[in-house]
Amino acid sequence: MKKQIALVPGDGIGPDIVGEAVRVLDAVAARFGHAFTFAECLAGGVAIDARGEPLPAETLQACRGADAVLLGAVGGPKWDALGGSQRPEKALLGLRGGLGLFCNLRPAVLFSQLRDACPLRADIIGDGLDIMVVRELTGGIYFGDRGRNAAGDEAYDTMRYSVAEVERIARLAFGIARQRHRRVCSVDKHNILETSRLWRETVTRVARDFPDVALSHMYVDNAAMQLVRNPRQFDVIVTENMFGDILSDEASMITGSIGMLPSASLRLDHFGMYEPIHGSAPDIAGKDLANPIATILSAAMMLRYTFAMPAEAQAIEQAVGRVLDAGLRTADIAAKGEATVGTRAMGDAIVDALA
Ligand code: NAD
Repeated sequence: MKKQIALVPGDGIGPDIVGEAVRVLDAVAARFGHAFTFAECLAGGVAIDARGEPLPAETLQACRGADAVLLGAVGGPKWDALGGSQRPEKALLGLRGGLGLFCNLRPAVLFSQLRDACPLRADIIGDGLDIMVVRELTGGIYFGDRGRNAAGDEAYDTMRYSVAEVERIARLAFGIARQRHRRVCSVDKHNILETSRLWRETVTRVARDFPDVALSHMYVDNAAMQLVRNPRQFDVIVTENMFGDILSDEASMITGSIGMLPSASLRLDHFGMYEPIHGSAPDIAGKDLANPIATILSAAMMLRYTFAMPAEAQAIEQAVGRVLDAGLRTADIAAKGEATVGTRAMGDAIVDALA
C-alpha cells in the first residue's frame, strides 16, 4: 500500500524522536511491501523562527493533503516569553481544529519489563496494564460560553454537548473496543450534570449497534479511584473532554514512564495525527538521550487506526517488547545503576528487531 505521511518534528527532541520513528516505518515498509513517503513541515517554535507564526498555512495544507500526520513536540524556553497566538503550543490547537480531529486516544500500557516504574503495588498491576482512554476533544466546558459579571467577582464556564458530538465519539470508542477486548466503560457525572444525562442516553443508544461490545457506566469520581485501586478492570474508557483530560493523565502516570506513551487524535474517517504524550524535553534536546519509543509506538498506532494495518502495528509493538526483553534502556526508563543506550541506538535495536 502507498501512504503519504506528513512529518511535523517540531522543537527540542522532536527531530530526534521523529527521525527514529521514520526509520522504523521504513523498516515496516520494507518487511511488509508498503511504500511510505514523508513530507516534512514546520510547526511550533521552529516555525515561529522561520515564518513568524507557530502554524504556517503551508503546514496545515500539507497535513490536510497527507494520509496521516506524525508529530514530535513543540515549545521550549526560547519561545516562553511570547504571548497569545504566538505561542508554539498554538500549533497543536490549530492542527487539531484545522484537521477536524475530535477524538483523542491515550493508551496507558505498562510493559511487564518496566513493571518497577509503576507506582502501584505488584498485586494491583499483575502482569501489566493495557487501558485505552478515548477522550472527546472539541466540546464540553473547554469550548463553552464563559465570562465574568460586570463587577468581575463572579465567573462562569458552560459545559455543553450535542447528541451528534456524543454519538460520533461513542461510535469511534466502540469500534476501537472491537479491536481490543470488547469492553467500554463510559465515564460521566450522570447524577449531577444534564450533559452527562445526554451523554449516557446517547452512548447507551449507540451501544445497540455494537451488541458484541459490553458497555458499563461509571461516575468520574469513582473512575479516578478505580484507576489506582483496580486498573485492570478497564479496557476502553470513553469520556467527555475535561474528564478525559484528567483521567488520561492519571492513567498514563500509573505506567510511570513518560517516554513510552503514544497518543492519537482522530476523525470519524480515521484520519489522524499521532504524537508522543511528552513535551519537547529541552533539557535533553540534541544530546542523544531522548527515548524514541513513545513516538515509535505512535507510528504503530497510525498503522493500526488510520491505515488499518494491524499486523504491521503489532510487529512494531513486538519489536519494542523484544528490545526491552534484551535489556536495552534509555536513561528515563533505566533502573538505578543499569546501563543505558542513546536515542539512535534504541532506534537501531528496534529496526533490527523488526527485520
Ligand atoms: P516534557 O515532557 O518536555 O519533559 C518533562 C521531563 O520528562 C523532562 O525531564 C524531560 O527530559 C523528560 N522527558 C520527556 N520526554 C522524554 C523522552 N522521550 N525521553 C526521555 N526523557 C523525556 O515537559 P516539560 O518540561 O513540562 O515541557 C517542555 C516543553 O515542551 C515546554 O515548552 C512545553 O510547553 C512543551 N510541551 C509540549 C507538548 C507537546 O508538544 N505535545 C506537551 C507537553 C509539553
